[in-house]
Amino acid sequence: MSMDKPRRIVFATNNANKLRELREIVGQRFEIVSLADIGCTEEIPETADTICGNAIMKARYVKEHYGVDCFADDTGLEVSALGGAPGVHTARYAAGQSHDSEANMARLLSELSDKSDRTARFVTYIALILNDEEYLFEGICSGTIRNEKSGTDGFGYDPVFQPDGFNRTFAEMTHDEKNYVSHRGRATRLLIDKLNTL
Ligand code: IMP
Repeated sequence: MSMDKPRRIVFATNNANKLRELREIVGQRFEIVSLADIGCTEEIPETADTICGNAIMKARYVKEHYGVDCFADDTGLEVSALGGAPGVHTARYAAGQSHDSEANMARLLSELSDKSDRTARFVTYIALILNDEEYLFEGICSGTIRNEKSGTDGFGYDPVFQPDGFNRTFAEMTHDEKNYVSHRGRATRLLIDKLNTL
């Protein structure tokens, strides 16, 4: 049995749900610490005009200001009938509200009320900065937007998003089921594959 201490790496977030999901996927080999753990309490700028750009912006900020190896993620929901919206605006889709999931879902369902095409996808980018090298990983989960909310688990848009191959929403799936198919699960496994080669 290896007695190596887990390798410590900063995940540029203070979102407890995302930390939990990441730790479940990563397992014991890496110790994932949060921004609070390194004393970073300020809001990190996320002003890029793409999801991918925001992930890179956050990772570079942490590297520049705290000098630590880190990774940052950014996720968007792209809905076909809305031309890819909310996309980079996913967290703040309900005007003026930040991370208000109920308001965001209400707006989404309202925008789609007269639309028959319910296809959508979640896209996650993870930007990793390690030893001054940058890496980018993409995870996509395709699915549909339900007509109404269903389920209570998870966060964000989970009660209205049904991944392809399931007849339940993310909010009705176990954590393991969601992690297996989700955008973040897929991107995270690519991240881990990379970390394991280093
Ligand atoms: P973030 O970039 O990970 O903060 O994601 C932006 C927004 O996308 C969040 O505020 C959530 O509303 C939504 N989101 C991200 N990941 C998920 C997920 O796994 N399920 C449902 N909503 C999500």
